[in-house]
Amino acid sequence: MAAFDYDLFVIGAGSGGVAASRRAASYGAKVAICEDSRVGGTCVIRGCVPKKLLMYASQFRDAFEDAPNYGWSPHAPAFDWECLLANKNKEIDRLNRIYVDMLAKSGVALITGRGRLVDPHTVEVAGRRVTAKTILVATGGRPVLPDVPGAEHCITSNELLEMPTLPREMVVIGGGYIAVEFASIFAGYGTKVTMLVRGEELLTGFDDDVRVHLAQEMRKRGIEIHVRTRIERIDGGPGGMTVRTTIGQEFSAGVVLAATGRKPNSGGLGLAEIGVRIDADGGILVDGFSRTSVPNVHAVGDVTNRVALTPVAIAEGRAFAETLFNDNPTDVSYANIPTAVFTTPPVGAVGLTEAQARRAHGAVDVYRTTFRPMKNTISGRDERILMKIVVDRASDRVLGCHMVGTDAPEIVQALAIAINVGATKRQFDRTIALHPSSAEEFVLMREPVKAP
Ligand code: NDP
Repeated sequence: MAAFDYDLFVIGAGSGGVAASRRAASYGAKVAICEDSRVGGTCVIRGCVPKKLLMYASQFRDAFEDAPNYGWSPHAPAFDWECLLANKNKEIDRLNRIYVDMLAKSGVALITGRGRLVDPHTVEVAGRRVTAKTILVATGGRPVLPDVPGAEHCITSNELLEMPTLPREMVVIGGGYIAVEFASIFAGYGTKVTMLVRGEELLTGFDDDVRVHLAQEMRKRGIEIHVRTRIERIDGGPGGMTVRTTIGQEFSAGVVLAATGRKPNSGGLGLAEIGVRIDADGGILVDGFSRTSVPNVHAVGDVTNRVALTPVAIAEGRAFAETLFNDNPTDVSYANIPTAVFTTPPVGAVGLTEAQARRAHGAVDVYRTTFRPMKNTISGRDERILMKIVVDRASDRVLGCHMVGTDAPEIVQALAIAINVGATKRQFDRTIALHPSSAEEFVLMREPVKAP
């Protein structure tokens, strides 16, 4: 048997790669990981974490606006983007150092550089060749620009997180997670935001009631949302950018954010050359145990184009390590993954949408409520919460829970446990409400809404 430098070599030190390497090392494997950018990957460096910090900053607007009717007299608030950016960067630096330390403490060797496979057991990185019995590709994904003339004038979420000055006006192309989150965040800072969405509504794939309700609430906050709108071209000039649509509308702004999806980072790694099969979108094809078409090469996270969420990449990375280095074959369940969209107000969802449930189960009962949360009575804020439960009529099992409103992500994480253990609507009903809260409505909805 060949003697390898390492038992496991991981390409990419993001959420999936770090989780897999540390778990494998904890079982005694000799592990190295390479990274050509910063340890932490999309989530820590240019995704979930900085986005959420920016979201917190954005939400102070509501607190200032709501304060006077609650008896507070705040001084006229002013927002300092540069201060926020500096503090955000400091926090990301701190987390980056924690990640580097965690790898060292776990006994994982960190190599700085871009890895490329030269054969199934050999990676070329930082000018040298390293061999390993098992290779894990965890290189994540990157934003894609729309295929229209002038797309190079757009920025992506990567650059948005580093903008030196706050834009007065911003056009957002797209209506998915990143588009709605940054539209909300920057509207909170006072930027005039216009969204250009090619579909019928925001957030393709979410429950239709959620999509409609979120758009209503975002519009109330002054965000202009143009649906069924396709881009023809983008012109750049010294005075800013102009986005032209296929029906002749023009939208001008200092910044145009392309939030038009992400693609797996599978190029330039030597994958096709060694026989790793890749799909048309660049996703590495894997089986339920994250095995590629080359027996000792595995892949986890966004590069596999399965479910592009950090906790999923971590679960895939740990399952891979359990399977190979702890003799404990583990796969990942993709059912009932809770998800949140950090808009203002935020969205939380777990399980099936009403449409998916009707397709999969036929007869379903739908419970839905919209209400003004107590906090908005005195403040006078015109914002309503939406909650929705989708139930399988035959078994009474709750198939999906959906919410738009303050704390939706926190509430839906807990509901995901109930759904994953197969809770019935009757069990929801028997749960005593926690009063006064918004979340209590999830156990107080009695009458199903009439079928359309
Ligand atoms: P999404 O797939 O969520 O959204 C892409 C959006 O761009 C859709 O509205 C899509 O329209 C639109 N679009 C795609 N191509 C074009 C085009 N050529 N012209 C105009 N519009 C276009 O991608 P994101 O980049 O927002 O996010 C990528 C993934 O990252 C998410 O799917 C999610 O898995 C993850 N993510 C998760 C977050 C969270 O958990 N809170 C936050 C951010 C990202 P259509 O719907 O019609 O296809």
